[in-house]
Amino acid sequence: MSLDTTYPRRTTTPCRVGPITIGGGHPVVVQSMITEETRNVEACVEQIIGLHQAGCEMVRVTTPSLGEAQCLAEIRSKLNERYGYVPLTADVHHQGTAIAIEAAKHVDEVRINPGLFVFRKLTNQLEYGPEEHEAERLAIEASFAPVVEACKLHGRAMRVGVNHGSLSERMLVTYGDTPDGMVESAMEYLRICEKYGFTNVNISLKASRVQVMVAANRLMVKRMDEEGMAYPLHLGVTEAGDGEYARIKSTAGIATLLMEGIGDTIRVSLSEDPVNEIPVCYDILQALGLRKTKVEYIACPSCGRTKFDLPTVLHKVREATRHLVGLDIAVMGCIVNGPGEMADADYGYVGAAGGKITLYRKRNIVKNGIPQEDGVLELINLLKADGLWV
Ligand code: SF4
Repeated sequence: MSLDTTYPRRTTTPCRVGPITIGGGHPVVVQSMITEETRNVEACVEQIIGLHQAGCEMVRVTTPSLGEAQCLAEIRSKLNERYGYVPLTADVHHQGTAIAIEAAKHVDEVRINPGLFVFRKLTNQLEYGPEEHEAERLAIEASFAPVVEACKLHGRAMRVGVNHGSLSERMLVTYGDTPDGMVESAMEYLRICEKYGFTNVNISLKASRVQVMVAANRLMVKRMDEEGMAYPLHLGVTEAGDGEYARIKSTAGIATLLMEGIGDTIRVSLSEDPVNEIPVCYDILQALGLRKTKVEYIACPSCGRTKFDLPTVLHKVREATRHLVGLDIAVMGCIVNGPGEMADADYGYVGAAGGKITLYRKRNIVKNGIPQEDGVLELINLLKADGLWV
């Protein structure tokens, strides 16, 4: 009996961000954000190039004021001149109308934060009646519709990017600090986009707590289904921190949703050089079988049955074969469980009786009785003989 390891991805409407497409069945897009000040154009261009060379497919740049939004023109032209085209997103927060309209002239996507876009002083109101809701919705529409029109005019994308930590006071009072409040924040802006005939949109709902981020995205999908919307989702856990735990936390949130078919683009936010985020994104996608960008190594943890130094051999095999993108290579300590557990691998290096090595191609033995010291070389020779060495 074979196990069905496929899972359907949610069907989404494609969102075009310059030359790339988010959603609509396209591969999950990897993105990140630079940390340089936007007015420091040279440094921004360098960091964008570095990220793109590392595999980042869309790069976000902060635009806290109109001045930074104007700098995007120079960033775009210097980037094109020095390196080539990189899809850029402008990150717009407080009082964003003029900033977003300017940014839309220069970059491929404008990200707005519904909690901050129309900035209001805290009123400490305890509840909002229907008329106050309507008045604020109208104020939002008045500020936001010109941005929608600018995106339409310039053929740009928009990300409606909600953060759990920056919901508007009205949302907090009405829904509390909850996934409901996050989803309703996004829905208000989406309804305006649709009212103005603009659908080149994607959405993010980020939180620093994995459970909140997962719940918000699930609820967003449910709510969109109810309203006949199918916008793609950008996934990320914010303020995940640094090091191993930040990677695990991001993976927990992003991978949980991807396994449910939810998510069309991802960012792993680290308090480190953003270049470090990129391999984590690709590793998540590879582990889930969504994108294959390197060799898949299958290796047992070794135990008392292992008659060779498995970690060292695995390291040598990886060093020798890491350029052969697309292959699955197994290194297994013994014949007892090894061949069965590596059955899906294209090639196998398996410990056998008397401390010898057996090489497999799929489930078939290719060569037996190989001395340990020759094992890695024999594997390489096999790959060469099969025409796979590049
Ligand atoms: Fe031990 Fe063999 Fe399992 Fe590896 S495959 S852990 S050597 S039993």
